[in-house]
Amino acid sequence: MQVSVLGAGTMGHGIAQVAAMAGHEVTMRDIEAAYVEDGLDAIESNLRGGVDRDKVTSDEMAATLDRLSGTTSLEAAVADADLVVEAVPEDMELKRETVAEVESLVDDDAVIASNTSSLSVTEILSALERPERGLGLHFFNPVHIMGLVEVVVAEQTSEATLAFATEFVEGIDKTAVEVGDSPGFASSRLGVALGVEAMRMVQEGVASPADIDTAMELGYNHPMGPLELGDVVGLDVRLDILEYLREELGERFRPPQILKRKVRAGKLGKKTGEGFYVWEDGEIVGASEDVMDR
Ligand code: NAD
Repeated sequence: MQVSVLGAGTMGHGIAQVAAMAGHEVTMRDIEAAYVEDGLDAIESNLRGGVDRDKVTSDEMAATLDRLSGTTSLEAAVADADLVVEAVPEDMELKRETVAEVESLVDDDAVIASNTSSLSVTEILSALERPERGLGLHFFNPVHIMGLVEVVVAEQTSEATLAFATEFVEGIDKTAVEVGDSPGFASSRLGVALGVEAMRMVQEGVASPADIDTAMELGYNHPMGPLELGDVVGLDVRLDILEYLREELGERFRPPQILKRKVRAGKLGKKTGEGFYVWEDGEIVGASEDVMDR
């Protein structure tokens, strides 16, 4: 199959890599040659890491790179595409313009997918003449490691488009879950719900962040507790998602005071050295003392 990926950033290059590894011919497009090069370099270095760890053979690496090309021309990128996956920045107008332009360049039966993590896929697809050919394919970072893809069924998505996309996801060795086009889909909505309750528990003094995380890790076999995960993702990112989910789904997603206070103080988690934990060189070295409800 000919797969075209728009955007060579964090998600775009990951999606291009897994599609090429699965045997598809892949063209990756970005707006500047330097971004395309960066994306191709990132794929090559990922594959080299895979070879070093005996996850990928040298032959597989060479064959994958052979199936991949990069371009800044949208027309060249999508000309013969069976599937186009857009992974451009999270901006409704940009995504609508992108898919509409793609539609004017592809065959009638090409499927157009969006990797949006939070926008309405239905609204993105309403920019198309034939929106039934579209849907969401929500990949997770890092794409070559994470096994899940949420297949987001928009109002307009046809059965044929859904079947095609599900087969594609299975063919790249990922597990597809089918979700309706609802805010936070299945994964973010539930993950964020757990995280926000954990924050309220810290605020109420039910238990320390470390004990709440240990309860989930050992009691529920989560690989990482919800507060540590919040620190890793970034508390500012968590706050943005909560504000959006509150607007769309209601007060149960209201951001707790403790989260707002930490974000205002620049305590954004791992990336700034403090969130619910204190971090040094990417490792937890202690508990944040700022856990009281004030
Ligand atoms: P990113 O900023 O790393 O990459 C986006 C790339 O798109 C940039 O290289 C940019 O130059 C390029 N771009 C901008 N306009 C373009 C255009 N018209 N055509 C082609 N390329 C264009 O962003 P990202 O983290 O890869 O996110 C991309 C999408 O994936 C967003 O919708 C985001 O919400 C979603 N997503 C992100 C994650 C994540 O963990 N980062 C996870 C799931 C989904």
